[in-house]
Amino acid sequence: MNNANTRSQLDPAAQRQATLKTLEQDPFDVLVIGGGIVGTGVARDAAMRGLRVALVEQHDFSFGTSSRSSRLLHGGLRYLAQGRIGLVHEASVEKKVVHHIAPHLADPLPFIFPTYRGNKDWVLWQLKIGVKIYDLLCGGRNLGKSTWHRPQDILRRVPGLVAVNLTGGVRYYDGFTNDSRLALDTLRSAAAQGATVINYCRYRDAKRNGHWECQVEDVLTGRTFPVRACAVVNATGPWADGLPHSTVKLRATKGIHLVVEHGRAPVTETVVMTEGKRILFMIPWGERTIIGTTDTDYQGSLDDVRADTEDVAYVLRVANLFFPNSQLTTRDVISAWAGLRPLVADPSGKPSDVSRAHEIHNPEPGWWDVAGGKLTTYRLMAEQTVDQIVRKLKKLKGTAVAVAPCRTAREPLLPPSETAGVSALTPPPFERGPVEHYVRREWAVHLDDVMVRRTSWHWYHRDAASKAAQVAEWMGELLGWPPETRQAELERYTRMWGASY
Ligand SMILES: Cc1cc2nc3c(=O)[nH]c(=O)nc-3n(C[C@H](O)[C@H](O)[C@H](O)COP(=O)(O)OP(=O)(O)OC[C@H]3O[C@@H](n4cnc5c(N)ncnc54)[C@H](O)[C@@H]3O)c2cc1C
Repeated sequence: MNNANTRSQLDPAAQRQATLKTLEQDPFDVLVIGGGIVGTGVARDAAMRGLRVALVEQHDFSFGTSSRSSRLLHGGLRYLAQGRIGLVHEASVEKKVVHHIAPHLADPLPFIFPTYRGNKDWVLWQLKIGVKIYDLLCGGRNLGKSTWHRPQDILRRVPGLVAVNLTGGVRYYDGFTNDSRLALDTLRSAAAQGATVINYCRYRDAKRNGHWECQVEDVLTGRTFPVRACAVVNATGPWADGLPHSTVKLRATKGIHLVVEHGRAPVTETVVMTEGKRILFMIPWGERTIIGTTDTDYQGSLDDVRADTEDVAYVLRVANLFFPNSQLTTRDVISAWAGLRPLVADPSGKPSDVSRAHEIHNPEPGWWDVAGGKLTTYRLMAEQTVDQIVRKLKKLKGTAVAVAPCRTAREPLLPPSETAGVSALTPPPFERGPVEHYVRREWAVHLDDVMVRRTSWHWYHRDAASKAAQVAEWMGELLGWPPETRQAELERYTRMWGASY
């Protein structure tokens, strides 16, 4: 490779121009709309099978729900209580698959589920049976073996937990991940397999004329250009039902999480807190603790979802019921994120009862809608979608295509050398080095791309605003931002991510 090539490969502006040119000029087998976990999973799978793949994301990769989850790889003990064995089995197997393909982003996580006299929704003997079934549903060994515990044992493991009427509890295993890093590393894996991917490019509309011609807008310049593909996958999560050609019907529900100092909620294992049939978690996260979540119907803007005062008060109230000595207040809250569950519509029933199962539809030749599901099952959703596309591809292209079998459950996303220091469960050290990596190798365009999704520094650090000012300087040096652009980036960051509660 000559020096000019090396330079242009590392120059983000030149890289973006080259990507735009490829998108406009090359015909693709598959165009994926949406760069959340589902879209990145489809792009990776299709690229690994040898298909020509493009992915466009209207904001930043993982801007939507895939950077605002509880960060759990889980079968869903709650769904087991609802009798959804198939769903739990599917997700339990997949949590282990993610553990295998992304070990840097999947740690076994023990959960303590305490039970109390008088709580008819969560009864100890039922949970004891439930966790044993849960272990069996993994299709092999779970990430750790479940156990049953007496009250004094639970209190020893969870100091500060309310002891009145405690009847005991169970301990079981799921996994802890980093949602946006999982999406980004899945995308890096797709790109390494030849996928053409771009953020800040919005699908507008499409028409079919033998193949699909999609109108895509470069949000950074306002220019619209065509992208041609045999198959289009609508993987736009909560946006899925508003897209031209989509047949998806969604019911969006909002969930929020709070981040507090670990010292103020010093759990060493995740603690399950019940509120009627609902469960909330207190999850240890390095020097912090994550507490959530809520589940309420949502009708507001999809592009600006925030935790409001009532959400925060609800989560703090439940936490303080279970840890009465902590008396957490809004002053303890370092940050709060809010996301929308893209649930397949079922207007009846409580939000938390709506099915988390995914659906894949092919309403028009070459168009696929993928909706619902969970972070945990993203790889399976992708495999099933690409399986369907492959079956129809000969008809869509008019010629036979040699397609390799699916390998996404076996092959690691990235080699350890590609993730060390830049992608982990907790944020990277606050240094210029990782920022340079995100700008040159991970498509970071705006300040919040680095602060929020690539590093989680925004969620983790109480002094995130001053850290953002430093990151704006580093990005400014790397991207050639004049002082007014650095200022505009800081204002954009504060406008989008400033606290609202
Ligand atoms: C509070 C909460 C907690 C959760 N916790 C867990 C958990 O612990 N474990 C778990 O397994 N699952 C969890 N989930 C579910 C999981 O997070 C989601 O199912 C998953 O992230 C959805 O991914 P997605 O790719 O479908 O959607 P998204 O991540 O929202 O991605 C869709 C993308 O499409 C883009 N897009 C939209 N329109 C366009 C357009 N016109 N052109 C281009 N791009 C477009 C959006 O900008 C967005 O980035 C949780 C969800 C919530 C809300």
